[in-house]
Amino acid sequence: MMQQQAMAAGGPAAEARQCFGCNFEAVSAETACPRCGKKAFFTAGNIKTRGIILVALGLFIAGLIGAVSVVVGLIVLNAANDPSKSRKLAEDGHILLAAAGLFAVLILFGFHMIVSGGWMIAFGKRNRATVWVMWALLALILMAGGFISMWT
Ligand SMILES: [Zn+2]
Repeated sequence: MMQQQAMAAGGPAAEARQCFGCNFEAVSAETACPRCGKKAFFTAGNIKTRGIILVALGLFIAGLIGAVSVVVGLIVLNAANDPSKSRKLAEDGHILLAAAGLFAVLILFGFHMIVSGGWMIAFGKRNRATVWVMWALLALILMAGGFISMWT
């Protein structure tokens, strides 16, 4: 630890950093993690910038998918009121359900990005639990997408 700081003398000042690969935290001037070697050893400033990007992306995704959901919902509602189309709609009910699930998880994913990014902006650190939730949501998105592509 002392040796690393001495080695970094003359370079950028040592700062509190967190590794996005293994979660290792230390005061260091290096940009590669001393534990796992990943070049994702970020300062609070780096993490806050990523948090802002994450919040912006989350807002975009939640807003976009939210708008698409409303439009698709209206089209489905219209078709349901049309007798010639409602039978086809009932036959494809499971696909509609999977699509609704996919939209819901995508919106949740967007909100999750906003929350994760907000946490990073507020604390200058990444909360590891939010990473696990993100992977779980991604798995759900893939599952819903898989069902839809299987049925259509
Ligand atoms: Zn690491």
